[in-house]
Amino acid sequence: MPDLPNSMHARDRANILHPYTNAVNHQRNGPLIIDKGEGIYVFDDQGKRYIEGLAGLWSVAVGFGEERLVSAAARQMEKLPYYHTFASKSHEPSILLAEKLVSLSPQRLEKVFFTNSGSEANDTVVKLLRYFNNVVGRPQKKKIISRQRAYHGVTVASGSLTGLPLNHRDFDLPMPGVKHVSCPHHYRNGAPGETEEEFAARLAAEMEAVIVSEGPDTVAAFIGEPLMGAGGVIPPPAGYWQKIQEICRKYDVLIVADEVITGFGRLGSMFGCDYYGIDPDIMVVSKQITSSYQPLAAVLISEELFAPIAENTGRIGGFGHGFTGSGHPVATAVALENIEIIEERGLVENARVVGKVLQAKLREFAGHPLVGEVRGVGLIAGVELVADKESRTAFDASLGIGTYVFERAHEHGLIIRNSGDTIAFCPPLIIREDQIHDLITRFSAALDDAMAYIRSNSTPRG
Ligand code: PMP
Repeated sequence: MPDLPNSMHARDRANILHPYTNAVNHQRNGPLIIDKGEGIYVFDDQGKRYIEGLAGLWSVAVGFGEERLVSAAARQMEKLPYYHTFASKSHEPSILLAEKLVSLSPQRLEKVFFTNSGSEANDTVVKLLRYFNNVVGRPQKKKIISRQRAYHGVTVASGSLTGLPLNHRDFDLPMPGVKHVSCPHHYRNGAPGETEEEFAARLAAEMEAVIVSEGPDTVAAFIGEPLMGAGGVIPPPAGYWQKIQEICRKYDVLIVADEVITGFGRLGSMFGCDYYGIDPDIMVVSKQITSSYQPLAAVLISEELFAPIAENTGRIGGFGHGFTGSGHPVATAVALENIEIIEERGLVENARVVGKVLQAKLREFAGHPLVGEVRGVGLIAGVELVADKESRTAFDASLGIGTYVFERAHEHGLIIRNSGDTIAFCPPLIIREDQIHDLITRFSAALDDAMAYIRSNSTPRG
């Protein structure tokens, strides 16, 4: 890789603090510079091709280089490149997208608030919950229950909802008023011999105990990703959402579904709520809404929430919340075209059908000495690597096995992500069956390398 003072690597090292990057190693090695994309592939600045096995950041549904999205953006740029939605102004793409989202989403969701990112959307959720409970005369009802290993963003409020140590440590998070209950991961947190249903019942009982001990009149909402993504691709145990919803309804705790990863087809259904039978009061979407060609997110709320909020804005003279980019015309125009492509090309169905192949092929690794659990639904999957299959013992974190597989996969032309020692897969929804086989072959080669690495690191016995 060229490392002249003027190379992109050197210039990047001089100026950028990268998210989720070990900045010390980064100063040494520089970034992998991605130059262009085409379908499920991206190419680096040396011309090397990679399968984008994580669809960017779980988001490029229609693949890279989709001309229709480029044209939709260009058309909108020419007609009206920017306008805001403040002070009773609007524009066609945001109106049409709001209508589209309401028509696709679970029945009770009827009003839309646009933001630029998933973090801002979840921040907005926290503020809406406060606002709502203040205006309906329940000023004590503000706490939010989230889960360990949840990912809901990185702003002060959404980062507090997130349940991952790296997002809290040294940032003085979480803020007060957020409670994290157990992660619904049966493989890791289920008791010996406990069925998924029993585990789900135990988690529901835990949540009920937390609500009762905090005081139901102080708990506003429960937030959850239908299937947890960035925390390690964790599908809930059987019956989980039904039981959790029962408890929420019992104590008048609102349900917030964070569909930032699962929305628009990832699980083989339009939303994770459809897949798991969730009836949310609030839903958050982003990422695949524009295939990340433009930054955009949305918060959908029920009429029951909207009515008192709207009434209060009349009383106090306006709704004091909004972003310069809320409902940005280029982003919303791209979203409309993107959703049309998802529908026209049957990409939700493709995620279901081709997803079955991905899940089946990955499960063939279940017998591999390094693989503890293979899990996932549709076109999202996780493979958890363990030091000992029998006892499910994790690798010593200092070995960095997940990161090693991540790096070796790059060598083999496959981009994936690791969450600790869980390898995550989330390819574009356009992926074909033959491309899944190619992805699997590359992953298999990276696993073989990891096996050799572990053997070379283990102390010889005897
Ligand atoms: N919620 C979930 C479920 C996410 O996966 C993410 C991003 N990975 C976010 C929220 C935050 O979105 P953003 O990075 O756009 O702020």
